Amino acid sequence: MRNIYFDNAATTPVRKEVLEYILPYFSEYYGNASSVYNIARIGKKAIEDARKKVADAFNADVSEIYFTAGGSEADNWAIKGVAEALSVKGRHIITTNIEHHAVLHTCEYLEKKGFEVTYLPVDEYGLVSPEDVEKAIREDTILISIMFANNEIGTIMPVKEIGEIARKRGIYFHTDAVQAAGHVKIDVKEMNIDLMSISGHKLGAPKGVGALFVKKGVKIEAFIHGGAQERRKRAGTENIPGIAGLGKAIELAVAEMDEEAERLTGLRDKLIKGILESIPFSRLNGHPEKRLPGNCNVSFEFIEGESMLLFLDMKGIYASSGSACTSGSLDPSHVLLAIGLPHEKAHGSLRISLGRDNTEEEVDMLINELPPIVERLRAMSPLYEEFTAKNS
Ligand SMILES: *Cc1c(COP(=O)(O)O)cnc(C)c1O
Repeated sequence: MRNIYFDNAATTPVRKEVLEYILPYFSEYYGNASSVYNIARIGKKAIEDARKKVADAFNADVSEIYFTAGGSEADNWAIKGVAEALSVKGRHIITTNIEHHAVLHTCEYLEKKGFEVTYLPVDEYGLVSPEDVEKAIREDTILISIMFANNEIGTIMPVKEIGEIARKRGIYFHTDAVQAAGHVKIDVKEMNIDLMSISGHKLGAPKGVGALFVKKGVKIEAFIHGGAQERRKRAGTENIPGIAGLGKAIELAVAEMDEEAERLTGLRDKLIKGILESIPFSRLNGHPEKRLPGNCNVSFEFIEGESMLLFLDMKGIYASSGSACTSGSLDPSHVLLAIGLPHEKAHGSLRISLGRDNTEEEVDMLINELPPIVERLRAMSPLYEEFTAKNS
């Protein structure tokens, strides 16, 4: 049976070109980048090449790119590092209530340490209003952390407008761009971004590597203390294959971005249209246009997203849902609740995230497979039975 992978927002396969590029750094050029001999120098050069590629991708300077062990680490570092460095100046942070847990839980941790956090609401599409951001700013605000694009519903935030406000008020602006990097155009200068997190495994590089962009002059504490790596801000022997892979993957993604975004947007819109037209009581979550090219998030009334995933899995189709079991809690996704979905609708949601390897044929297959699955689950649903009884 063929597997169809529609969970590219969760992770992506390492691209063939990337794998080929990084393989020598495992067992040929395995030297510690801090050493002086040839195989170490080659590794060191791979790191600096990758730094240049990441910097170029976002119109940043090489001195502004720090490699981390992933997106979560970059988010933790940005927020805790700025909070610590500026705690004398103020202790107030602004974010939204639809951030990734790497941001939300870091903010909650800081609240326990005496910081105050404003969690701004979003509208029905998942957009935060720049006016709300401006109104939330206080004397003691030290950081605004708002994601570039949401990982569940794909909504792209008004980053440039928020950056302008932050710059005007002299407050640092961090954005979690893990879902956006390599998929939509990002220019840290034009968008007034001071700190930005990215992650390798969401764009065709290996897991366990990411980067934090820190604009020159931004005050931030070191994240890991030890050796002198990453200009004494993030100690630890460098993950050379991972870092090289991140550089290669972002370079490829940026070169192919326009074409790939157009292709994915076409597939995405075909999928959304196909689902909404063929399945009654379904709705699109997130913004219809201001959304990531590969993101489709839909809710189906009367059923559980979790059961849909199991039925799809039996067909070799892999997707994700915003409901209970996957997240390890009984509550539906905080993002779907934040855009105003009642619990029962939030439970019946499905995230299909398209990527480089997906084809139109696969999208057509999903459009055909989904309606009978929803129909079957509804036939077993007491909620649906109740609804049809009431409306017949
Ligand atoms: C995946 C993801 C992260 C976490 O990145 P890791 O590299 O898995 O730690 C953070 N933020 C967003 C928006 C993500 O999608």
